[in-house]
Amino acid sequence: MTGVTRAAGVACLMRLAPAGSVAAALVVAGCAIPHWPVDAPLTSPFGLRWEGGPDLHRGVDLRVDEGTPIQAMTHGRVRFAGTMSGFGNVVWLDHPGEAITVYAHLSRIDVATGDAISGGNVIGLSGQSGNATGPHLHFEIWRRGREVDPVIALGGWPSRDSRPSPNPRP
Ligand SMILES: [Zn+2]
Repeated sequence: MTGVTRAAGVACLMRLAPAGSVAAALVVAGCAIPHWPVDAPLTSPFGLRWEGGPDLHRGVDLRVDEGTPIQAMTHGRVRFAGTMSGFGNVVWLDHPGEAITVYAHLSRIDVATGDAISGGNVIGLSGQSGNATGPHLHFEIWRRGREVDPVIALGGWPSRDSRPSPNPRP
């Protein structure tokens, strides 16, 4: 667990998962409740987009300043922490329920491959490494080998995004 820092427990309550969602299936207890890795506006959605040609965006982009702490969505283990083409400095986490999350374009990685991770642990700092035109977090969720839309998996946009949640809460 070299370099893993613990974030305040309140971060665990950033985003509660609605019943029946992918995220709810991952919930075990307490800080394991899945949440957005950072509370920031979503600037590029999941799915097909046009970037000089059709491009499948396998995750979402969150607008964050360089050096913003990025938290694990939930507990798990580091599948890969290092540099990949396009992703730059990137962390891949394995979670219960055959889920994987990806955190790309980091300026700093605070975990190592094989580390055990608790939900809310800071896994690194945001940046613009790899194929990025500015600082942002590229975030992916995979479930059973398929990429899923994080907005659906987590039951809504981050709270700091101005758009209405697709699953409004009372
Ligand atoms: Zn992206």
